[in-house]
Amino acid sequence: MAMIPKETIEEIRARCNIVEVVGAYLPELRRRGSTYKCNCPFHKEKTPSFTVNDARQIFHCFGCGAGGDVFRFVMDYEKVDFVTAVSVLAERVGVEIVYEGGQPEKSGNKDVLYKLHTDAAAFYHRMLLDSAEGAEARRYLEERDLPVEIIKEFQIGFAPNEWEGLLGRALKKGYEAEQLEAAGLAVPSERGGKVSHYDRFRNRVMFPICDQMGRVIGFSGRIMNKAEKGAKYVNSPETLLFRKNRVLFAFDKARKAIVDERRAIVVEGQIDAIRCHQAGLHNVVASQGTALTENHARLIKRYADEVILVLDADAAGLKAALSSSEIFIAHELSVRVVTLPEKEDPDSLIKKEGAKALTDLVETAPGALDFLVDLMGKQEDMNTEAGRMRVVQSVLNLIRQCPSAARRDPMINRAADLLNISPLALSQDLRRNQAQQRPAQRRIPAPAGDPDHPRRRV
Ligand SMILES: [Zn+2]
Repeated sequence: MAMIPKETIEEIRARCNIVEVVGAYLPELRRRGSTYKCNCPFHKEKTPSFTVNDARQIFHCFGCGAGGDVFRFVMDYEKVDFVTAVSVLAERVGVEIVYEGGQPEKSGNKDVLYKLHTDAAAFYHRMLLDSAEGAEARRYLEERDLPVEIIKEFQIGFAPNEWEGLLGRALKKGYEAEQLEAAGLAVPSERGGKVSHYDRFRNRVMFPICDQMGRVIGFSGRIMNKAEKGAKYVNSPETLLFRKNRVLFAFDKARKAIVDERRAIVVEGQIDAIRCHQAGLHNVVASQGTALTENHARLIKRYADEVILVLDADAAGLKAALSSSEIFIAHELSVRVVTLPEKEDPDSLIKKEGAKALTDLVETAPGALDFLVDLMGKQEDMNTEAGRMRVVQSVLNLIRQCPSAARRDPMINRAADLLNISPLALSQDLRRNQAQQRPAQRRIPAPAGDPDHPRRRV
């Protein structure tokens, strides 16, 4: 079993200031007299009872009793074991761990993968800014109206049109091809019984994807020329670091604004999110075209009370809005939905009409329930019994997701208003509906080894 020498643990502890570490996870942490305070990340509360003591280097929550040292905080917050927590903090303060009894399989690999991603992002970024090959990519970004400050802030890059552009340089730096494969940066190919590797990303503009701490954990590569063959986007595959259904693009940069405003705006594309940040909307993240999952909802719920979904006006966008609303409501987030003008995305809208056009839409966006009734009203004939009942059923499905009765009640009243039904009738139907649906609709437990299993909702 991998062990970390006691002296190493103490060295890491000595170099880590718990106020800084906790503050990196919880940007709302503020000094209050002799301690630091914020809302507890381990239980739900409205007034802060979570404290961090600088002098004693411990944290303690007077609400739920959580407490301990800096390692305990990382363990509890990131839900990792002690060894992983120590290695996370070791990396933060630049202490190298020499394990007793061999490298731990998982965290050892992770360390290398983090470094590899950092190096790869720097390489792609350099290629974009400085290389002759990067000229077309620079032109592309200029045409997309992304200035160099934004390119630097988001560390946008360019993967050269070579089979071993990144691979060759990484091997020279001492990485192994298998490590690049594990990072999803190289693809293995077999010829005549011999395995070789080549770069996954070639001739693409590269968008680094970061975790919530700002570490690069994956990439999205975009073609520059529509006429070119191949997918518009190539993304990193699922790796030890990169779990698509947990990551929201730009979350690391948006986190502070999300905490300050207690709300998050979710757009679809990376460039949409980048444009919003450039225009001064800093609480914006991108779903990157994947369906939003429970993990995304949990992540946002840690920092916000409200989510505003900004989705394309096409049928797929509307359907996505509904299923996402259900997931967020199930996690006790308020949801509002912005429908963009046809054929616009946040990027094009801001470029054409300025950021205010988007913020106006955000400020006046209807709640998920109003959005649903409006949408269904356009699809169903409300003059027929069957049409009306289908709308009622959809509304009940949405309200049913909400676990809190106190939150459900106003939803019922609002729906009753919108549908011109008595609240009493609606809540009776809701109860009947819940009784009938319960066995079939019970949340499916995630199969072992796949904690990211998304909700089974369409
Ligand atoms: Zn607590």
